[in-house]
Amino acid sequence: MLLDNRTLVFSLMLVGAMMALSLAVVSWGREHDSLKKWAGAMALEAVAFFLIGARGAIPDVVSIMFPIILMVTAQALKLAAIYEYRELPWPRWQCLVPVGLVSMVIVLLPLDDFRGRLIYGSLIYATQMLMILKILHTDMDSRAGRAWWLLFGATTAILLFALLRGIVAFFRIIEFATIESTVTPSPVQIAVFIGLMAMSMLGSLGFILMVKERADRTIRSLAMTDSLTGVINRHAFMEQAEKEHALARRHMMPLALLMIDIDYFKRINDEFGHPVGDDVLVDVVRILGSRLRKQDTLGRYGGEEFCILLPGTDEVGAMVVAETLRGAVAEAPLAVGYKEVFATVSIGVTVCPSSCDSCDQEFDKLLADADAALYQAKNEGRNRVVSLSMNCQSANPGSEGSEENATYLTSKLLI
Ligand code: GH3
Ligand code: MG
Ligand code: MG
Repeated sequence: MLLDNRTLVFSLMLVGAMMALSLAVVSWGREHDSLKKWAGAMALEAVAFFLIGARGAIPDVVSIMFPIILMVTAQALKLAAIYEYRELPWPRWQCLVPVGLVSMVIVLLPLDDFRGRLIYGSLIYATQMLMILKILHTDMDSRAGRAWWLLFGATTAILLFALLRGIVAFFRIIEFATIESTVTPSPVQIAVFIGLMAMSMLGSLGFILMVKERADRTIRSLAMTDSLTGVINRHAFMEQAEKEHALARRHMMPLALLMIDIDYFKRINDEFGHPVGDDVLVDVVRILGSRLRKQDTLGRYGGEEFCILLPGTDEVGAMVVAETLRGAVAEAPLAVGYKEVFATVSIGVTVCPSSCDSCDQEFDKLLADADAALYQAKNEGRNRVVSLSMNCQSANPGSEGSEENATYLTSKLLI
């Protein structure tokens, strides 16, 4: 005999119990932590395996009736854990009905009806796997990660496994277990234990890693986002800008950069207080964002300074957009929850045209020019758009760019 059945079942139980213990320790004291429910499920599975292993040494009623109820309860807990992970209320009926049904079957069937228990148990178990697969299938965020595939794959394997067991028992393909054969192992039972536990481990690791992957996504997104306005922060904007710049150069497409600064913002803070100032910032971002295309990037560059990237936009187009944004902010009452505040913005525009050698350099050059254009807009009286074209050394090498070549386009002052 290759393996002693009892040793095998106890080993599997120990592995499950240790995983449950480590999950419980990690999630201890945390409210609404899906890992806590998952730890509970693994602990129940470990107890179920212990009871199966102890068959013959403990009363039959306990070793035969309880494992299946514990296993079904464990799957109900896993389903609840996945709902909790998705921040959805746990589905009472989907969790409790299978537990109730399996308890009823166990009580109603005679103790020696192994075949009946196997058929009904497998059916209920397979239904639970389908419920888990259904909720996993609709989790688009987690599907982007790899851990999701571990859990989905393992659950699918258990579903097929359960169906196979049910079919084999129903058609009497293999004559199934008796009390004696659980103490003296059969190859089929060994395969069933190993397979079930291996898939359960794989699924559990998948779920734990899914939780980790989501935590990573959240941290990354927090590190990139400005918490007040919800747009990307300076660091993330610069990363995106470098990418857009490289893309624009490769495809010989123009790229426009708008640098926006709220005029006399300090006065708003001084006059109305910082909370109103914060609200103004939020409203300005909302107004700017609502007038941009999907491919445009808006980021908070500093305190009350914002940058916008407009891919595939030439100078004329960029001026139209900038003027629209300037007008929209000037016209809208801001921070209306507190008080109606009116504010204006100054915008510096610079565009890297489709073919230009000097633009092939760093994005910082574009940024410096937008900053210079914004500085000029401030000097000329604020609430205006100034465009400073890139000092391009285009296809013709003879026409070297100089400061004088820079074109300044100033929009009309509206106040
Ligand atoms: P200018 O027209 O020259 O731009 O004048 P300004 O008053 O806007 O100039 P400045 O850039 O010196 O002032 C920016 C102010 O923005 C200073 C700072 O207290 C305020 N500020 C920066 N970040 C925040 C923020 O998150 N919330 C609030 N309420 N104020 C902020
Ligand atoms: Mg300002
Ligand atoms: Mg400023």
